[in-house]
Amino acid sequence: MKIIYKRSDIKDKVKALKANGLTIGFVPTMGALHQGHLSLIKEAKLQNDIVVCSIFVNPIQFNNQQDLEKYPIDYESDLKKLENLDCDLVFMPDVEEMYPEPPTQKYDFGFLDKVMEGKFRPGHFNGVATVVHKFFDIIEPDKAYFGEKDFQQLTIIKRLVKDYNIPVEIVPCPIVRESDGLAMSSRNLRLTKEQRIQAPYIYQTLLKAKENYKKFSVIELKNWIKEEINKNSFMKLEYVEIVDMQTLHSVNNYNDIKNLIICIVVFLGEIRLIDNIKLFY
Ligand code: AMP
Repeated sequence: MKIIYKRSDIKDKVKALKANGLTIGFVPTMGALHQGHLSLIKEAKLQNDIVVCSIFVNPIQFNNQQDLEKYPIDYESDLKKLENLDCDLVFMPDVEEMYPEPPTQKYDFGFLDKVMEGKFRPGHFNGVATVVHKFFDIIEPDKAYFGEKDFQQLTIIKRLVKDYNIPVEIVPCPIVRESDGLAMSSRNLRLTKEQRIQAPYIYQTLLKAKENYKKFSVIELKNWIKEEINKNSFMKLEYVEIVDMQTLHSVNNYNDIKNLIICIVVFLGEIRLIDNIKLFY
């Protein structure tokens, strides 16, 4: 496994590999790697000759300075995990390397970046799109892997590659959960012992909603989820939306649309956890 810090070095390295006819799979991460990230690496290993993983805590996608400052970092452990999976290249630029000048790009994804995360985290998706676009430009992967845990992000990245004609296939990967159902997240490390015990209640509530949705209208189901979450004294719901998986438009009834997803964000203290569940009918 080779660790590379400079844009020009990773570009040259990948170019040489591609010239030899090898295919490149790319997995962008912000480090503090867990089994969710590693599932993306494993999938990329299966589908490509060479796997590139980036570790870069992208400051411009944080709308909350405290969240950025407290973001967990453990490069040593990350590199060990990647080595164990036989990841080929790790790209670890610093902020100066990625943004020698303050970035000025402005993306507009129409409705897709105005709702849910876009609404509650202003500027977040512009930061995500900026860094992912740069990575695609530098690495030119054949395929890139994104987790369905960040479902809206995945939708926006698919739109980014369409809008800018970027020749990369976006591969969605399912959510990896702890054995108690909590969606794996680097932020879980920041939960207190008691918060960690309570946290699986988010997924339990989503599961119950999915099991029982036919008993409720869409509005009633949303309200039921809201009430269930807020019943838990450790939790505060930020939002819950039931949306069309393609357009992210909220629906008012279950008719017409085949693929719905319930997206939720819950605070436990100051820790913001995101999750979702697909609701097919
Ligand atoms: P992050 O390091 O949080 O930016 O995440 C890097 C990638 O890993 C993103 O595509 C995430 O959606 C994905 N990811 C994070 N957690 C999980 C999980 N529990 N299951 C599947 N993918 C995940």
